[in-house]
Amino acid sequence: MNVLVINCGSSSLKYQLIDSVTEDVLAKGLCERIGIDGSQLVYQKAGCDKIKTKAPMPSHQEAISLVLNALMDPENGVIKSLDEIGAAGHRIVHGGEKFTESVVIDDEVIAAIEECSDLAPLHNPANLIGIHACQKLMPGKPMVAVFDTAFHQTMPEYAYLYGLPYEYYEKYGVRRYGFHGTSHKFVSNHLAEFLGKDIKDMKIIVCHLGNGSSVSAVKYGKCVDTSMGMTPLEGLIMGTRSGDIDPAIMEYIAKKENLDIAGVMEVLNKKSGVGGLSQISSDFRDLEDAQAEGNPAAIRTMAAFEYRVAKYIGAYVAAMNGVDAIAFTAGVGENGPVTRTGVCKFLGYLGVELDEEANHKRGFDNIISTPDSKVTVCVIPTDEELAIARETVRLVEK
Ligand code: AMP
Repeated sequence: MNVLVINCGSSSLKYQLIDSVTEDVLAKGLCERIGIDGSQLVYQKAGCDKIKTKAPMPSHQEAISLVLNALMDPENGVIKSLDEIGAAGHRIVHGGEKFTESVVIDDEVIAAIEECSDLAPLHNPANLIGIHACQKLMPGKPMVAVFDTAFHQTMPEYAYLYGLPYEYYEKYGVRRYGFHGTSHKFVSNHLAEFLGKDIKDMKIIVCHLGNGSSVSAVKYGKCVDTSMGMTPLEGLIMGTRSGDIDPAIMEYIAKKENLDIAGVMEVLNKKSGVGGLSQISSDFRDLEDAQAEGNPAAIRTMAAFEYRVAKYIGAYVAAMNGVDAIAFTAGVGENGPVTRTGVCKFLGYLGVELDEEANHKRGFDNIISTPDSKVTVCVIPTDEELAIARETVRLVEK
C-alpha cells in the first residue's frame, strides 16, 4: 500500500509518499508560505532532482491539491490515480491525555484533537486543516492520526506532575506531555532490534538532538520520562528555544525589556537556545564550524548545550536505576561527532567509552562505544515519516 504522510504546519506542509511494502519513499517535498504571497511547491521524485514550482496556495486545500497533482503528473509523477494511495497518515502534535496511541481518524477523533488545541494552539489547528483538506480531496480514504505525545503517555504521575496547584492539572491539563514521541518510539525499538535484544529487557536513553531537542527514558519499552513538557519549550537548550530556565526570569526580562507575555514567549521560543546564546547561528553546523575555529561564543554555547544533555542523561539513569544503551538521533545527534563526544565526556562515571573512529562515521545505525564500554552508545537515524506510514498501515489493515 502507498501511504501519503502529511505533516501540516500553520503555513507549511511536508509530505512523503511511501510504499509500505518496500518502505521506499516514492516522492517527497513540501509546500511553503501557504496563505502568504510567494508560495511554492517543492517536489522530489526518488532519485531525481527537486522541482520547485511557484503557485498560489491560499489555503492548505490548494496546497494538498497541488501535491496530489504533482504525484499524478504524467511526466514526473509516481502514481496514475488517487486509487494508488491506500491511506493517509497525519502527524498530530498534541493528543493530550486522550490519545495513548495512533488512531483511525473519524468525527470523534477530530473533535478530540480539536479539544487538545488549547494545549497546542499553533500546531493542532494546522494539523486539523490538513485532515479536513484530505477529506475533501480524497473522500473516503482511510486516514490515521499519529501523535507526538502518545508514546510518552506511559510516564508515571510523579514524572508528569509539576509542582503547581493540583487544580491546574485537573482544570486545565497542566502537566508534562512530551513531544517527538514518534521518534523516541522508533529509535528505541530500532536500537533494541539493531543490538539483537528484546526491548522489554532494556533501559534506553534516546537523545533526539535537532533544531528541537529532547531526551527520553525508555524502560522495558515504555517511556518513563522525557525532557519536553506541557509544550516543546521545556528541557534541553535547543536551536532557538531556551529549554529549562528559572520561571522568574520571565517577569524580570519583561520589566527590563518592557515586554508583555507574548513578547517574552517570543524571546523564549524564537530568540533563545544556541542561536541566542551564541549570537552566531541557531544551526548546529555553523556552531560546530565556529567551535572548530576556536570562536569563544560557539565554544561556550556548545558546552552549555552538551552539559544540559548530559544532565538529563544523568537524571534518567536515576529514573530507571540504570541504563543499558544510549541512542543519539536527529540532525546533530546523527551528524555531529564533536557534539556527541562533548556529551559523552560527562559520562565517564557510567563507564561510557567512545570509539572515536566509529563516532566519525555517519549515515547508518552504528555502535560508537568501545566493546569495553559499560553502556552501549549508538547512532540510530530517526525516520518519523516511516514510523507514521507503519502506524497507518497497521491500523488500516487491522
Ligand atoms: P532536525 O531538527 O533533526 O532536522 O535537525 C536540524 C539541526 O541539525 C540543524 O541545527 C542542523 O544544523 C543540524 N545538523 C544537520 N546536519 C548536521 C551536521 N552534518 N553536523 C552538525 N549538525 C547538523
